[in-house]
Amino acid sequence: MGEVKNMSDRNVVIIGSGPAGYTAAIYAARANLKPLVLAGYSAGGQLITTTEVENYPGFPEGVMGPDLMENMRKQAERFGAEILYKDVTKVDFSKKPFSVTYEDTTVTAQAAIIATGAAPRKLGIPSEQKLWGHGVTSCATCDGAFYKGKEVAVVGGGDSAMEEATFLTRFANKVTVVHRRPELRASKIMQDRAQKNAKISWLLGQDIAEVVGNGKVSGLKLKDAKTGTESTINVDGLFLAIGHIPNSALFNGVIKTDQDGYILVDHKTQTNVTGVFACGDVVDRHFRQAITAAGSGCASAISAERYLESIE
Ligand code: NAP
Repeated sequence: MGEVKNMSDRNVVIIGSGPAGYTAAIYAARANLKPLVLAGYSAGGQLITTTEVENYPGFPEGVMGPDLMENMRKQAERFGAEILYKDVTKVDFSKKPFSVTYEDTTVTAQAAIIATGAAPRKLGIPSEQKLWGHGVTSCATCDGAFYKGKEVAVVGGGDSAMEEATFLTRFANKVTVVHRRPELRASKIMQDRAQKNAKISWLLGQDIAEVVGNGKVSGLKLKDAKTGTESTINVDGLFLAIGHIPNSALFNGVIKTDQDGYILVDHKTQTNVTGVFACGDVVDRHFRQAITAAGSGCASAISAERYLESIE
């Protein structure tokens, strides 16, 4: 990445660098808008913490998540996108040009694209927080290898839980999926794969009341969701796979969201502020796929381009 000199009066600033942000950057760059991407300190979005992506079109043999993101970044830079690995701390979308601040620098731009994604949801119990990073984690790809020969639990009943549980059997001797309802939400194919895996066992209809451990995780206190009966299991780690929350807090009070914080956009990805567009997981509670995020990033860039033409 070259040094970015011009911080004022940019055409478009893109906040975020997952598939949505980088795709918006590719399209905006190819439209000669010289986009500035504020990619965040941990750039690349959630695919950075994934292993193999099997469903991104164009990769019949699959592609590693970090490689896919690296390629998207290079593709955006090839056409002139400038990328800064900084976290945005403040925005002002109340007047034109818009301003976006990181550290002590403020960037001004005529249009903005929000592609800040979503973050893993937590259980919200005090023991989870206390043992976070000491056996409680939301990243199987990052931490799985620490559990060679051990026993772990995965909480959740969706595709992520199935994927993480299956992945963790590469390391752990036993993986227990703990889910609050008797039925799984995951797609049939992912359920089948996990259910066929002899290292995976199931505790359904169970809430996690407490993560047990003194300094590091040693077990879970469970509560039957129907009867309230308590039980304990011994595990060395707990992997969270209970969905995500949209990263929209930065825009509170300015950009309209639904009750869960997902940014509201029209079919052109326009938010309630004209000239501010949003795409990817921060707007999408339903699909949350790399390909749908990329598609909406493309839409945001095209919409921003047309908007800029309209105000010229
Ligand atoms: P999800 O589908 O929203 O599933 C979240 C799971 O966590 C649900 O089973 C939910 O329980 C449970 N949960 C939520 N809040 C909880 C809480 N506070 N305490 C305990 N459990 C809680 O999320 P996801 O699995 O991350 O998947 C998100 C999207 O990505 C989906 O569209 C999925 O298809 C996709 N995805 C696809 C792949 C793939 O195809 N390779 C892999 C991963 C994800 P309930 O069921 O009771 O609501």
